[in-house]
Amino acid sequence: MTSDSIRIRLIAMGGTIAMRREEGQGSTPRDGADELAGSTPSPSGVRVERQDLTLKPSASVTLADVADLCRAIAKAEADGVTGVVVTHGTDTLEETAFALGLMERGAIPVVVTGAMRSADSIGADGPANLANAIRVASHPDARRHGVMVLFGDEIHAGHFVRKVHSGRPHAFSSEPYGPLGHVTEDVVRFEMAALVDLPQLTLGETADGRIPVVPILQAGLDLEPEAIRLFEAAEIDALVISGVGGGHVSARAAQELERLARIKPVVMTSRVGMGPTLSNSYAYAGGDIDLGKRGILNGGRWRPAQARILLQLLISRGMRFEETRSGQ
Ligand code: ASP
Repeated sequence: MTSDSIRIRLIAMGGTIAMRREEGQGSTPRDGADELAGSTPSPSGVRVERQDLTLKPSASVTLADVADLCRAIAKAEADGVTGVVVTHGTDTLEETAFALGLMERGAIPVVVTGAMRSADSIGADGPANLANAIRVASHPDARRHGVMVLFGDEIHAGHFVRKVHSGRPHAFSSEPYGPLGHVTEDVVRFEMAALVDLPQLTLGETADGRIPVVPILQAGLDLEPEAIRLFEAAEIDALVISGVGGGHVSARAAQELERLARIKPVVMTSRVGMGPTLSNSYAYAGGDIDLGKRGILNGGRWRPAQARILLQLLISRGMRFEETRSGQ
């Protein structure tokens, strides 16, 4: 491929990278793909095409939006595009990157990026992140890495990365694994590959367009059975517990979860953010062995928000959590 044949499609979804502040007000999403592409020079030999998908703060992005994004990426591939860059809010960027990795979307590389400082702030980080995301998506080795996140010169695997700071520009980390590579002096260097096989799913079509309802309940000191009981009657499709430590709850919560697990899938995860949910360590009431015996499913390597997305996709297709190798 000659360098001038590289086509990158920029798909804009909103977020702080697209936000501006009105006099005396806070920031709201304003800029579409044209403004974003105009904010940074394209690397030489790269043509940046523009597409607007949504213009939202990322807490309001839905799985249906991500399914639309997958279709847009597949269309870009069919159009002969080399790679896709997605601009997105940082608050849920890790969720969209994870969902993209799970969902059928074709084989071209996808780089998701955003900004911590709005487009009109001093020291706005969006233009530099976008320029580097375009460089990464254009790189001949990018295809090997599937869905990536570019932030602050680092290239992260979409299923490892998470937001670790609410305000500073260096807000993303793949700890404990580290980034796949980085961009320095405009040069992209891949240093590692992530060896996780993600199940390939699509979002099922329900007649009313309803996306499965899967709340996450946060445990802590003495998780109350009353809190769990609220979900027994509620119209939820499954429940994810963000358990303490390796995926544990209080003894009295364990009893209540056992009751709930007879009627709905209940998946235990760890709130710690690093390391898997344990399954073979603690036998006390509310420990991982005890919870397994009570019919609570083990979330394996997935963080609470990831287990939620996986469940939503599986349930939308009438599949069960146990049908994926989720725990490995
Ligand atoms: N503060 C967010 C951001 O950094 C807003 C959002 O996630 O849309 O993009």
